[in-house]
Amino acid sequence: MRQSKTLIPTLKEVPADADIKSHQLLLRAGYIRQNFSGVYSFLPLGKKVLNTIETVIREEMDAIGGNEVLMPALQAKELWEESGRWDKMGPELMRLKDRHDRDFVLGPTHEEVVTSMVRDEIKSYKKLPITLYQIQTKFRDERRPRFGLLRGREFIMKDAYSFHATDESLDESYQAMYEAYSRIFTRLGLNFRAVIADSGAMGGKDTHEFMALSEVGEDTIAFSTESEYAANIEMAEVLDNYTASTTEQLPLEKKATPDQKTMQEVCDFFDITLEQGLKSLLFKADDTYVMVVTRGDHDVNEIKLKHLLKVDTLTMATEVEALEVVGANFGSLGPIAVGGDVQVICDVALKAVGNAVCGANENGYHYTNVNPSRDFGTFTYEDVRFIKAGDASPDGKGVIKFAEGIEIGQVFKLGKFYAEKLGADFLNDQGRSAVMTMGCYGIGVSRTLAAIVEQHHDDRGIVWPKAVAPFNVHLLVLNTKKEEQSELGERLYKDLRAAGYSVLYDDRAERAGVKFADSDLIGLPLRVTVGNKAGEAIVEFKVRKTGEQSDVAVNDLFKVLK
Ligand code: ATP
Ligand code: MG
Ligand code: MG
Ligand code: MG
Repeated sequence: MRQSKTLIPTLKEVPADADIKSHQLLLRAGYIRQNFSGVYSFLPLGKKVLNTIETVIREEMDAIGGNEVLMPALQAKELWEESGRWDKMGPELMRLKDRHDRDFVLGPTHEEVVTSMVRDEIKSYKKLPITLYQIQTKFRDERRPRFGLLRGREFIMKDAYSFHATDESLDESYQAMYEAYSRIFTRLGLNFRAVIADSGAMGGKDTHEFMALSEVGEDTIAFSTESEYAANIEMAEVLDNYTASTTEQLPLEKKATPDQKTMQEVCDFFDITLEQGLKSLLFKADDTYVMVVTRGDHDVNEIKLKHLLKVDTLTMATEVEALEVVGANFGSLGPIAVGGDVQVICDVALKAVGNAVCGANENGYHYTNVNPSRDFGTFTYEDVRFIKAGDASPDGKGVIKFAEGIEIGQVFKLGKFYAEKLGADFLNDQGRSAVMTMGCYGIGVSRTLAAIVEQHHDDRGIVWPKAVAPFNVHLLVLNTKKEEQSELGERLYKDLRAAGYSVLYDDRAERAGVKFADSDLIGLPLRVTVGNKAGEAIVEFKVRKTGEQSDVAVNDLFKVLK
């Protein structure tokens, strides 16, 4: 590609509102442009990298028997009512109306659409298992779109869904997906860990998140120095922030009602700040500790109240003896638990100490949307671990370290949740009607692009791993007015491509300094510079990553390029 004829609008200055490296560099090197908050265009270089990432993903999905489809972003409200998510999802769901006042959704994921399709088309166990996947634009009205491509409101995802007649079959596909994800992220040059994660509001038991290690990551993970053990420890951050002051309690004379559905509403009702509200979940009553564990991803203003625990040292909660859950306080947590979490809390508390007094229904709430098999059946206390840096890894190998991670993908055993809601039945091998069981598997394609840049850059720009670079070689002609330079440039541009290299050819009439700076910023793995030794058939060869640089006779160029 001739740089004079493409669109690579590099910027000298760091854009004001870009606060992390990947965002800055992708803007500065001319890969992306922001349209408005959380929404981006991919320019030619950005689109090329996206294509490469997608190719790697497609190859690995096809290799495990995935079938690519393309489902609509525009989805009917009715499907979302069938699954219950029209009400459950809250403001993150992008909703819109057509001219007839019908409601629609811009899909944040496709469980509803894919399950309804399979429900309509597959009736027999003979057609199972099947895995469908797509690479498609998703919409989420994120509360805080930020960090460029890392958290957009419109973004590209690979989402896959598998349908099964039996749990064993789901286990197999899950394992195959897990391995495919490991291959994908390895091929993309990422330093990542597959971590045991919380299954949140979606139910199901087994789920792993794939985390690219990076200090800008929003999740904290714990991993072993010597084994594969890794877990998502969102609670670690919460604890760091809140252990210092845990005695604040909500005023007990006031009791929240089911009208307060979000944490913010609860706090407003009690006239306290959100921060105080959070602390109050970690209260201490008469020298006994109160543990609150929720598993929900419900709309609590994006604050995940997943594993909150107050103990003096971070020991396993099973070792906390005097745990007492105070009914009145618990009752005041009711609104947070719309969707069933209070019952989970009690269940966990009971499992932890056996003698917890739970006041879940103290206020007489009728808790809706409780799904016992989802919320209780699959939970084991093993799911919750409390560990600190330097502890022995739970698998006995190595010690625990903490790091920040970017969630680039997630694999998830959904079970029968959507299939039941949407009626995805089939005839099993006994001729009886049964409900399918499902897995879902996502990769943030555009987020992965940014995560790669986060891990692969230096002071001067991006340093692409070979497998994802938009071109293999950056060919520079320093002075296009000099005939011997432009002639040699044109010749090499042709020869390199004929030899199978993809080449970005800087044939612009720019100063050498501009060309070098842009080249470093753009970050292609290899650079060939045609300069004032062109007459002697000598070019300069440079490796972006190492900075290693040498003069090479044109005749030897293909030897050093390899
Ligand atoms: P997060 O915890 O970061 O909000 P999520 O768990 O809500 O992500 P999933 O529903 O698991 O996301 O979606 C699958 C993948 O899509 C994620 O692993 C992530 O890589 C990507 N993704 C999710 N939300 C965004 C977003 N707002 N912008 C870009 N990529 C996203
Ligand atoms: Mg999210
Ligand atoms: Mg997540
Ligand atoms: Mg996720």
